[in-house]
Amino acid sequence: MLRTILIAAAALGIAIFGGFWWLFLADSKAPAAAPGLFAIEDWRSRLPEDASALPTEIRVLEIGRDKAPGFAARAGGFGTDWNTTYNAVQIVWPDRTLIVDGAIDAATAAGMKQSEADWAFDAAAYETLLAAMLKAEQVVITHEHLDHVMAVARHPDPAALAPRLVLNAPQIGALPIFAIGALDPAIAGLAPRLDGTVQSIAPGVVIIPAAGHTPGSQLVFIRTQDGRETLLIGDVAWSLDAVETLTTRPVLTQYMIFDPNEDRTSVKAQLRALHDLMEANPDLTVIPAHDGDLIRGLIQDDLLTEGFKE
Ligand SMILES: [Zn+2]
Ligand SMILES: [Zn+2]
Repeated sequence: MLRTILIAAAALGIAIFGGFWWLFLADSKAPAAAPGLFAIEDWRSRLPEDASALPTEIRVLEIGRDKAPGFAARAGGFGTDWNTTYNAVQIVWPDRTLIVDGAIDAATAAGMKQSEADWAFDAAAYETLLAAMLKAEQVVITHEHLDHVMAVARHPDPAALAPRLVLNAPQIGALPIFAIGALDPAIAGLAPRLDGTVQSIAPGVVIIPAAGHTPGSQLVFIRTQDGRETLLIGDVAWSLDAVETLTTRPVLTQYMIFDPNEDRTSVKAQLRALHDLMEANPDLTVIPAHDGDLIRGLIQDDLLTEGFKE
């Protein structure tokens, strides 16, 4: 009898340990190499030779913030915090602007709240984003998830916004899910203006397709007039330490958050490629959209400017 109980207890222990391992640690490490995946020389070849044509600055507008356990953003990151930010980026030239991402609106932010103490939503900043989109020459998104598209899918003036939207086909396909009621025909009927290849969309701004986190995911490579290079990576990683440690989100997120699931194999290869890119280009600033600590540090170091230019 005792032997049976001990065997049952051991089996249960192994099952619990195995389940924990699978959900929190397994299948999270990047491969040893991802040759040719992100070719920065190709991106650079698409930049204008005349530096005065490049953007003058990159600005970031925080719409909301929150805090979650670090192990959600990076498998094995127990005992750390992930200070999450929801934001949009404005690329500024003397005569025009380009906006990257549509962040979240109040209802979406409230529905995603993780921490009572650390959650915040800035309604005035969201209004600023809505207005800035109508002054921008172009509006792009890193990918089609709910916390990056609301100022697009729920914009109060879709007819004015539509001509500025530069989206790829999977991104357009996802927008109806996030509209309140039917998506306005001006946006629902958009034709893709990105074709899924590496494309320069403005002087100093190159779009790099990176399907994996979602089918429509892409990176945004920017060189400013001061010669600095910045790479917005959306949600390929939720925090920069995921790139540095070559470790993606835990499998748990596939069940709790993503529907449909990520293509983990692609995301892990992208982490390797980004890691190697950073090592080979130490001056390149790589920015995951939700890494609040990193973005606040970049603002302090004058590598990003806080708030949008009106
Ligand atoms: Zn995402
Ligand atoms: Zn996101």
